[in-house]
Amino acid sequence: MTIINVTLPFGLISKVNDYSTIINEILKYDIIFNILKFSTSSSGINLLLDIPEEEIATITESLKKNNIIVNKKGRITIDLEKCIDCGACVSLCPTDALSMGGVEENNQLEFIEDKCIGCLLCIDSCPRHAIEENK
Ligand code: SF4
Ligand code: SF4
Repeated sequence: MTIINVTLPFGLISKVNDYSTIINEILKYDIIFNILKFSTSSSGINLLLDIPEEEIATITESLKKNNIIVNKKGRITIDLEKCIDCGACVSLCPTDALSMGGVEENNQLEFIEDKCIGCLLCIDSCPRHAIEENK
């Protein structure tokens, strides 16, 4: 299985149930898939999906035809000088790549890069704009 992050842009949404456009498009292919996360961002409604590897190309093509954005995987950098350890990004991370350290670590944000799948869901959550996508 492979994880993809897809966005239904706000411009295509007239009611909240419209996110089902994404689900219905995938269901056409009669495959088993998992919805790992449902969230909203500044660009629209995001779904983090776990899809069989062999179906990725077909599903991606199909979603794009319906103006659904299939986000590329990225790498992030966290500017710890800007970070105030508020924890807002932690709850959004689907893989526990972000966590708050314990008392011994002064409750500071910890980032384990090896666990990061590059979904970029954390970027919009940061009130300090401390998380950036590597360009
Ligand atoms: S980009 Fe990485 S750190 Fe950020 S939410 Fe996704 S998996 Fe977690
Ligand atoms: S949301 Fe931003 S400020 Fe808050 S813990 Fe995460 S990186 Fe730090």
